Amino acid sequence: MTRGHIDDALLRDRVTRYLHQRIRPAARVSSSLADVSAWTCGDPVPFAVAVSNEFAPVAADERWGAPWTTTWFHVTGDAPAGVDGCRTELVVDLGFSAVMPGFQAEGMAYRPDGTVVKAINPTTRWVPVESGARFQFFVEAAANPVILNVDGGPSEAFTPTALGDPLTAGVDAQYRLGGIRVEVVDVATERLAQEIEVLTELAWALPEASARRARVLSAIDASLDALDPGDVRGTASAARAILAPELAAPASSRVHEIVAVGHAHIDSAWLWPFRETRRKVARTVANVLERMDADPTLVYAMSSAQQYVWLREDHPQLFERMRERIAEGRFLPVGGMWVESDVQMPSGESLVRQFLEGSSFFEREFGVPTTIGWLPDSFGYSAALPQILRSAGAERFVTQKMSWSLVNRFPHHTFDWEGIDGSRVTTHFPSVDTYNSALTGFELAYAAENLTEPELFDSSIAPFGFGDGGGGPTREMLERARMTADLEGSPRVLVAGPERFFDRLAEAVAAGLELPVWFGELYLEAQRGVYTSQARTKQAHRRVERLLRTAELWSTQASVRGGHPYPTEVLTRGWHELLLMEFHDVLPGSSIAWVHREAEERLGRVATELEELVSTALDRLADSDEDTVVVNASPFEREGVPGHSIGHRGAANERPAVSVRHGSGAVTIANVTFEATIDLRSGTVTSLIDRVHDREVVSAGGRLHLPTLHRDAPVRWDAWDIDASIDSGVEVIDSVTAVDVRPLDDGSAVVEVQREFGSSRMTQWIELAPGSRPLRLRTRVDWQEQERLLKLEFPLAVATDRWQAETQFGFVERPTHRNTSWDEAKFEACAHRWVRVAEPGYGVAVVNERTYGFDARRRGDGVGPAWTMLRASLLKSSRYPDPEADRGEHEFAFEVLPALDSAHAVEAAYSVTEALENRRGAVVPPLASSSDPSIVLEAVKLAHDGSGDVILRLYECRGAQARTTVTLGFEATGVVETDILERPVDGGATTLEHLEFTPFRVRTFRVRRGDRSESDRSGER
Ligand SMILES: [Zn+2]
Repeated sequence: MTRGHIDDALLRDRVTRYLHQRIRPAARVSSSLADVSAWTCGDPVPFAVAVSNEFAPVAADERWGAPWTTTWFHVTGDAPAGVDGCRTELVVDLGFSAVMPGFQAEGMAYRPDGTVVKAINPTTRWVPVESGARFQFFVEAAANPVILNVDGGPSEAFTPTALGDPLTAGVDAQYRLGGIRVEVVDVATERLAQEIEVLTELAWALPEASARRARVLSAIDASLDALDPGDVRGTASAARAILAPELAAPASSRVHEIVAVGHAHIDSAWLWPFRETRRKVARTVANVLERMDADPTLVYAMSSAQQYVWLREDHPQLFERMRERIAEGRFLPVGGMWVESDVQMPSGESLVRQFLEGSSFFEREFGVPTTIGWLPDSFGYSAALPQILRSAGAERFVTQKMSWSLVNRFPHHTFDWEGIDGSRVTTHFPSVDTYNSALTGFELAYAAENLTEPELFDSSIAPFGFGDGGGGPTREMLERARMTADLEGSPRVLVAGPERFFDRLAEAVAAGLELPVWFGELYLEAQRGVYTSQARTKQAHRRVERLLRTAELWSTQASVRGGHPYPTEVLTRGWHELLLMEFHDVLPGSSIAWVHREAEERLGRVATELEELVSTALDRLADSDEDTVVVNASPFEREGVPGHSIGHRGAANERPAVSVRHGSGAVTIANVTFEATIDLRSGTVTSLIDRVHDREVVSAGGRLHLPTLHRDAPVRWDAWDIDASIDSGVEVIDSVTAVDVRPLDDGSAVVEVQREFGSSRMTQWIELAPGSRPLRLRTRVDWQEQERLLKLEFPLAVATDRWQAETQFGFVERPTHRNTSWDEAKFEACAHRWVRVAEPGYGVAVVNERTYGFDARRRGDGVGPAWTMLRASLLKSSRYPDPEADRGEHEFAFEVLPALDSAHAVEAAYSVTEALENRRGAVVPPLASSSDPSIVLEAVKLAHDGSGDVILRLYECRGAQARTTVTLGFEATGVVETDILERPVDGGATTLEHLEFTPFRVRTFRVRRGDRSESDRSGER
């Protein structure tokens, strides 16, 4: 058959109209309403509780669902008798809009016996029913309000809403039932629609001059000609026959291979609370299991041990069905982490525990080891991660988030990623640029065309299935995968696990392929506000991180020295809570108000429990009240007390009180380290002389500790983003309402500064303590601003082209200049407890208690010396998704000190977070100490396996080669070096003497205690 020229636009319209107005409606052979009654509750209840209530009849278009409530619909009816070539199903429309599943109402269908059938969302509304039989279901429908209208475009997206918290959401019904019907669907007609869809998407993704494109479009046109609009069902087979040769045309042998991994990204909390995520997990897994029963090709990857634990608690039957699929290798636990956490702000020990708790769960529960890191959506990736991944057994890593970078295109999709310590992991960014692929023809073509360096390895992973709010793969997606498995003009689609991609890549590497190497962090050039948003959540997180460390330290001491039971249960519960709150929308501050309120409450409860643990352990350790001793939880010796010990303060050095000298409009306070001059008109430090090194720390004309207010109205993603325009429209807060200079009884001196701006009030303190203490700076603010970012300035007389920021087990360096677009894009970045700028021979560190967002920029007038403007971001009060984010009281503390070496900054960080504590009690020597202070003993705990062995984790903190000997304060019978999962490593050390450390290397040791018999060891846990 020959056909004339086909008008492209006309054919597109023709296809769209045929699909929507003729073919799809014709596939629906019959449709009749079911009988529906309903019962509504606030918080979710189990099935048995729900169905024991009185259900009231509801109309087909009834309004339902106050925000965050649950309505149970009881659905009954008679399915029509079977029709040849048709299937019968219940189709539930809860009042769905076109926006994505997981962002609106969702349901779960149960049989009358309480077993789960499957979930219901806008893209999978159906429940199978038996034709010719009576049916009965209960549908648990969650009235989750729409917080983000993803299809609404810029005019509707990111609109501030009170719906994100039941305290403010009101009681208006959110949905109107769209009808619950029994439908008979003609399968051949439905298949015709899918075939036309796949072929048109294929053709329109091909180059215009492509012969394949012309052939396919011609076939589609001809197949529509073959359809009788008056009898679509009767002519569908003829139409399909015309398409068949085009669908059967095979792909070329060397075409791009897409490893399609079934997936549903499920945010552990975000625009919904934790409690809803539990149900999202169940709904998604129910649908995956339903599809696996129906379709043997589906392979599905799910991360986050926490989500498996929720499923085990809430739906043990689904969990057991899932376990069978895991054993078959079709349902794949991936990632090895407790949750898909943020990986920038958590401490090194937190990330270790993400893997220890996550991987040990997968291993224990399913016998599945961790082999792959899976973090599609976290907001940037720390340069410490490769070492942690490898030590957890994951030599492979997948993320696609870097495609969100707004400035520079990352040069590789498949590469070796090298961390600060030199560890490498084979990394892949799916070139489809989404973790929610639907496997459309456009996406497949894009994945192939978008791939960088296809000449190296022409394959990519495409995670497919609805995600963020869950959903997962649909039957339509699997049908597309089947049709594109071997289709001329399309990449080959193979539904498989991610290991298929990496195994083939490993083969290519073994055969000589050299992958490019990317060194250092994967800095996401977007979402830079997440280091600052929701300050209270971050502060609660940092507090629990610190308390877990000290609680483990002193509980281990109490166990080893006094034989007291180790509080495994409380510690594990505390870690699980902390690890959950590190989820990539909680710690980053990008969730609805409800989530942050709950996170802060839960972390507060954990902190109280941990404080009790610390106190109990210390009481047990020092069970005498004869003496005044000092508790030092820092790994560094302080005031004569060795690290990690309880001891006597060393002989008091002469500590003259801080001197206070009043000048004209200024006051100068001085101790051994610093002489600080404070301008009383602006309330800022205008001179800070380091008396030991005899140099000025503040840049010429600089005003240190000056707050600045920045307009902060990001184009998109308010709580996430700080836009590049943040420095236009800056308000300098340099007026004071009162200043007070006070010497304190302990010999300190403090300058107290009061300020008012906008609707907010601020008090700042500039303090020096006697002796060689750093300059301490505190800010308390009653913050009532919106869409403003509050920064604090530290203009430093240090000329440098880079700044250091603490990250997990080390630090990263970033440029202070803006030479290239890559440098310029890093205008706000993450730091842990300290940042440092240095010249050869001298450096200054700024240590903080609870903030993460910083920027540093090289400045100068071009005549005088260059200097560095370092700024800390304190508060960001975006209006979306929490319209009241960060309102209220906050307190921040910083210390400024000379730090000739990064090890000084690490030591100072511990002195800020681990204040020395006076107690009545006895001296308790350390359990372990490192002879070289640059090798930091970060964790002291008992082993995860309950053996009672002591685990010691150390890291090299300066980025240099070093050697240390660890001295133990207890009897040991053996030492085994382990990975972070506490498994022996091949060729590891068996002694703690003369341990070699390469730069930033983390090493973990298991020490067997001499005080425990074999039966003790096996008796626990
Ligand atoms: Zn996410």
